[in-house]
Amino acid sequence: MPFPAQGHMNPLLKLAKLLHSKGFFITFIHTALYHRRLLRTSSSSSVSSSASFRFVTIDDGVSEDESTHTLHYVQDCMRRHCPASLRELLVREEDEGVVPPATCIVSDGVMSFTLGVAEELRLPQVLFWTMSACGFMGYLLFEEIIKRDMAPLKDDVTARNDARLDARIDWVPAMKNARLRDMPTFITHPSHPKHQGMLEFMIEECRNASRATAIVLNTFDALELPVLDAISASLAPPVLTVGPLMGLNNNKLIFEEPKVWQEEMGCLKWLEAQQDSSVLYINFGSIAVMTSAQLSELAFGIAGSGCRFLWVVRPDSVDGGLDGLPAGFVEETMGRGLMIMGWCPQEEVLGHRAVGGFMTHSGWNSMLESVIEGVPMACLPSVAEQPTNSRFACGEWAVGLEIGLIGDLKRERVEGVIRELMEGEKGREIRKRALEVKEEAWRAVKPGGSSYVNLDKLVYDVLKAPM
Ligand code: UDP
Repeated sequence: MPFPAQGHMNPLLKLAKLLHSKGFFITFIHTALYHRRLLRTSSSSSVSSSASFRFVTIDDGVSEDESTHTLHYVQDCMRRHCPASLRELLVREEDEGVVPPATCIVSDGVMSFTLGVAEELRLPQVLFWTMSACGFMGYLLFEEIIKRDMAPLKDDVTARNDARLDARIDWVPAMKNARLRDMPTFITHPSHPKHQGMLEFMIEECRNASRATAIVLNTFDALELPVLDAISASLAPPVLTVGPLMGLNNNKLIFEEPKVWQEEMGCLKWLEAQQDSSVLYINFGSIAVMTSAQLSELAFGIAGSGCRFLWVVRPDSVDGGLDGLPAGFVEETMGRGLMIMGWCPQEEVLGHRAVGGFMTHSGWNSMLESVIEGVPMACLPSVAEQPTNSRFACGEWAVGLEIGLIGDLKRERVEGVIRELMEGEKGREIRKRALEVKEEAWRAVKPGGSSYVNLDKLVYDVLKAPM
């Protein structure tokens, strides 16, 4: 059961397909909100299923008018409505005998309300936190950060300038290079309108994590071992790394995957005509939003860098709507870039030989997709644990260069980082390191590798173990 957003849906679907390949009958649960989004882009009135892998939608109490939604509103509705819908589904189906009885629940780490249902039905319950280990650790540290009076900060304006943002998280050795400003934005920018209620919500989800039978993370030991050890020391359940899931996930498609966005495949043809490692790919995922002034700074930074680029812009990624591109941008970049308004097949794009760099909002799926292809990154984090991901990618792992928060965007900085990444000495070092980390990622998912072994542990020691 995934949280209804693309960055959660993708890894949950990958894990579900892996579990299916291990012999499980899968019921993949959408909430009504996500089902409505799927129907907007799909011609059929239901999502296709196969005999042993089906999609089921349950009621979530979320209003149909998405313009009024905040993250916390959606979480809160689901927390209040979904447990009853889920329990009703599992009990009714067991009574009817139409599908095999449920033997375990695997749900998103931020959907911990499923724990109550699992406890009541005496089923093992795995929480899959879809973020990095460092991001997860950031959330686990919220309570301690507050206890130490480091946060929360008062409002966004003072928050940015507050000297306390440079304080180190030095009491956890694995996090000692992270500053308060690198922690998830729900604690550094608590008064942002979209963050309302999220600090308390995440604290509660972290407390609930201890009730799970096991915790699964889409990362790999060689990348995040010190942080993983710190997480294991602070949580009772075993923590199993099974990432990058896209490396483990080599089983054939068994159905047409439900998609909220139609992918523009034309960009792959354009990439075919480009030289190896010459193109900077720019994409900020499914949620990040910027103002038109920030879009303009970004556009002129890209134009000024002189690099070849593939830039994918979601039409809803600009506050108040996308009202064309800044004057002069198209003329200035003519013949060296492709812009797509919409959505692209990102994993294929990152795997293309022509892509030599990735400007990313530092969403965890995007970063892992870049890591497994050995593509170095320019990090422009926006919300949630993205600043933490960016800090680790540009520091401990040395596979990226930090531009800074989207909120602080300046064209000169964008231009400088792109030049450094695509042509500079530092860029060369990072490219080399990205290829080493790519090797480590593939080692983790090959037979005998840490994630490969952990997937078997998850299946045989947790999900198939007698309660
Ligand atoms: N994605 C994609 N095409 C796009 C943009 C994004 O397929 O044009 C996918 C991307 O491959 C990733 C997911 O959407 O799997 C975005 O997840 P991420 O965690 O990076 O960011 P979020 O959208 O949650 O902020």
